[in-house]
Amino acid sequence: MTPDTRERSYSATAYYRPNSDRPNLVLLTDAFAKELIIEKEGSEWVAKGVKFLHNREEHVVKTEGEVIVCGGSVQSPQLLEISGIGNPQILKAAGIEVKVDNPNVGENLQEHMNKSYLSFPSKTSTALSDVPQ
Ligand SMILES: Cc1cc2nc3c(=O)[nH]c(=O)nc-3n(C[C@H](O)[C@H](O)[C@H](O)COP(=O)(O)OP(=O)(O)OC[C@H]3O[C@@H](n4cnc5c(N)ncnc54)[C@H](O)[C@@H]3O)c2cc1C
Repeated sequence: MTPDTRERSYSATAYYRPNSDRPNLVLLTDAFAKELIIEKEGSEWVAKGVKFLHNREEHVVKTEGEVIVCGGSVQSPQLLEISGIGNPQILKAAGIEVKVDNPNVGENLQEHMNKSYLSFPSKTSTALSDVPQ
């Protein structure tokens, strides 16, 4: 929340809009990442791109730079696992070739405590320092 404008920040306002005119930025909506392209370089597997669906067609985009996975707390590990990165026991059971053995993938999701609360707009601006201790 931005205190002076009382606007809620989200990825479009915080990251996309300030950078939308960059010539090296393309935002493709309604695209679904199916798999990371991971290739062997020497003894290491390196992420080289992504296979994705757009308008029901499959595409592959490759990069010499980094691949950033940001599918959220459930689908990020799922995408890693589908791509061969994860716990060998889980991957093998799903018939997925193990490329990177990492048993931590998808293992640390935790429920956080839930609580009920009420929120309402204040007629006057109140800072935390105004609240009696
Ligand atoms: C009910 C609720 C209330 C919350 N309230 C707050 C709050 O008040 N304050 C706060 O700071 N945090 C809050 N959070 C947590 C906050 O929403 C998350 O921490 C934050 O959204 C995580 O951002 P992210 O970009 O990592 O993932 P997400 O916001 O989950 O974004 C992941 C995106 O990837 C997309 N995606 C997934 N898989 C694929 C795929 N294969 N191909 C293409 N796209 C894909 C999804 O559709 C989604 O749009 C709340 C969460 C929930 C569920």
